[in-house]
Amino acid sequence: MDLGISGKRALVCASSKGLGLGCARALAEAGVDLVMNARGADALESAAQSIRDDFGVDVVNVVADVTTPEGQGAVLKAAQGVDILVTNAGGPPPGLWSDWEREDFIQALDANMLTPIALMKALLPGMIDKGWGRVVNITSQSVKAPIPALGLSNSARTGLTGYVAGTSRQVAQHGVTINNLLPGNHDTDRIASLDSTVAQQQGIGRDEARAAREATIPVHRYGTAEEFGATCAFLCSQYAGYIVGQNILLDGGGVNSTM
Ligand code: NAP
Repeated sequence: MDLGISGKRALVCASSKGLGLGCARALAEAGVDLVMNARGADALESAAQSIRDDFGVDVVNVVADVTTPEGQGAVLKAAQGVDILVTNAGGPPPGLWSDWEREDFIQALDANMLTPIALMKALLPGMIDKGWGRVVNITSQSVKAPIPALGLSNSARTGLTGYVAGTSRQVAQHGVTINNLLPGNHDTDRIASLDSTVAQQQGIGRDEARAAREATIPVHRYGTAEEFGATCAFLCSQYAGYIVGQNILLDGGGVNSTM
């Protein structure tokens, strides 16, 4: 399927690995030029070069922590006038409700709520001027079904979801859509590290911890970054103009709800 976005430009944040990289690769396959970002320079350049080699699109790298004002400034300088924005960053650490102080919440809100909001605020006007734009925020299944140990993430991402619910309806008349993609368990470094923690706590091997988690998912496997990226690219396509303010779960059926 021709997604109709060849020649457009996208900023994909936190995209040297995992889900962000899956989105970057799928957009590049659709012919989209990219601004990619991560904190680690080597992995970012290697991801960018493989995208240039595989898809022949233009890729600019910005090595920066996107959750800081300086990082946002650097990313936005390279991304002026983009047609597509994919927001992403690492998730906050797990813990217990009684562990978290005000400063922990401020950090989580900065990273997973206020950073995507700042990027949207900066880039939506250019999209509105052009009468076309796409924003996809990578959030989490925890927005629909809380993960108790991820209270910081549950809180920050739900705040972002509320902002998107209203803002997406304010900008839709200009041909600009904003939607959220909610990953369940995907096969990335992040889930491997969660499995290692469980393995350590339970005194079992990591493969065993992974198999136990996979058994709880109706499809009995983790999702892939390729599947995730393809959904992101579709949401950014010419065919997705009527999908507004949605929270799309990619969780293999893991969230047990009727609607
Ligand atoms: P990942 O495999 O660990 O990859 C994270 C990517 O983001 C890397 O490229 C990393 O590169 C970059 N990054 C992290 N923090 C950054 C920052 N502050 N500024 C710029 N780049 C940054 O993680 P993932 O599994 O793709 O997860 C992506 C997001 O989805 C996270 O917020 C995660 O909590 C959420 N999520 C994931 C799953 C899952 O199953 N994988 C499920 C639910 C939610 P550098 O480290 O070099 O910066």
